[in-house]
Amino acid sequence: MSSEKSRARSEKLFESARQVIPGGVNSPVRAFKGVGGNPIFFKQGEGAWLIDEDDNRYVDYVGSWGPLILGHCHPSVIAALKAQLKNGLSFGAPTRKEGELAEQIAQLIPSIETVRLVNSGTEATMSAIRLARGFTHRNKVVKFEGCYHGHVDSLLVKAGSGALTLGTPDSLGIPESTSSETFILPYNDLDSATQLFEQSGNEIACVIIEPVAGNMNCVPPVAGYLQGLRDLCTQHGAVLIFDEVMTGFRTALGGAQSVYGITPDLTTLGKVIGGGLPVGAFGGKQEIMELLAPTGPVYQAGTLSGNPMAVTAGLATLKEISKPEFFDSLTIKTESLLKGLQDRADSAGIAFTTNQVGGMFGCFFSKEKSITSFSQVMDCDVDRFRKYFHLMLDNGVYLAPSAFEIGFVSAAHGEEELQHTLDAAEQAFSKL
Ligand SMILES: *Cc1c(COP(=O)(O)O)cnc(C)c1O
Repeated sequence: MSSEKSRARSEKLFESARQVIPGGVNSPVRAFKGVGGNPIFFKQGEGAWLIDEDDNRYVDYVGSWGPLILGHCHPSVIAALKAQLKNGLSFGAPTRKEGELAEQIAQLIPSIETVRLVNSGTEATMSAIRLARGFTHRNKVVKFEGCYHGHVDSLLVKAGSGALTLGTPDSLGIPESTSSETFILPYNDLDSATQLFEQSGNEIACVIIEPVAGNMNCVPPVAGYLQGLRDLCTQHGAVLIFDEVMTGFRTALGGAQSVYGITPDLTTLGKVIGGGLPVGAFGGKQEIMELLAPTGPVYQAGTLSGNPMAVTAGLATLKEISKPEFFDSLTIKTESLLKGLQDRADSAGIAFTTNQVGGMFGCFFSKEKSITSFSQVMDCDVDRFRKYFHLMLDNGVYLAPSAFEIGFVSAAHGEEELQHTLDAAEQAFSKL
């Protein structure tokens, strides 16, 4: 394994990018602030591999942050897009294919009776919250520490001092009057949610949650937690929103709600349903969805919503992942990767533990045997992760550049890629 790769072209491109793009990147986590060093510029993806501007190859565990469940350039997705390309890029009018995608989504996720397509996960959560507020005639939103729902004002909120307090802005530019409409609770702690509903249940429009938290590394829900939230929302007339932008079509074909057997009122989707092009969606109970314009008084719109190219990539992706055994195979592969990593960490005497749901996984440099809370995630050894990240990078493995991000295995990851990763990790662990 090579240990020093030249990244001269990436370095130069980053230098130029910084002149014209704030921080040189179009989304902050790409900037490598969490691990140090400068970001790598990629020119090509090929199955499970990424190829950078200096022709270095890496096994990719980022998968464009979730969408690429089939890996890069899957032949069916590329063929479908080529065919669509000839017919035009956008009409701003209804098309047959957007109806097909909506039908497929509704069929695969039974809690979704009707669905509206948008262009990003952020748009989906923003619209779902407006809709929940319109439906309940209430303003307060409940979210959980460590969950991310896109950069919506009312969701870019962090916990204030003490439990059960209203949130404070997590970014400049968000008025207190907005963040004060959001309650922040600890994830996987049903008692605090119960207490909040007892105190303020009649003000709460909705609870929004990642049913498997995937934006504080990977933290699955503890037994009974999601059902407990479902019951609280039902008792108090609040809308339960599952933000499945990451988990939808990723943890299982029916999303995390099918894994845990919980029926939310609304679901938000993104990432995988666009197959690598920008798509988001939100859907759920007809009774709530019909409040949307043009049938109802809650306004929501989009120039490129239901875009034919994006919908085509989504349909082609859903077709592939609907094949029998797709998720079993993805899950088994991910399990075997994690077992291999655990064995190697144990042999090297490195405190290490993992979480997994389907093709989503988290690795933690931690002495804890089971990671179920935001505070446990925060207590992991971030310095050790930084070293590990760069060692893996030098050995041709591209992990998300932050200790708090999740990993994704795609259908394109085969024996060769997994072995390459385990060999790289063995070497990295020996140097930590
Ligand atoms: C990525 C993500 C979003 C935001 O989606 P964008 O397409 O980046 O706007 C929202 N919620 C969850 C759970 C996500 O993982």
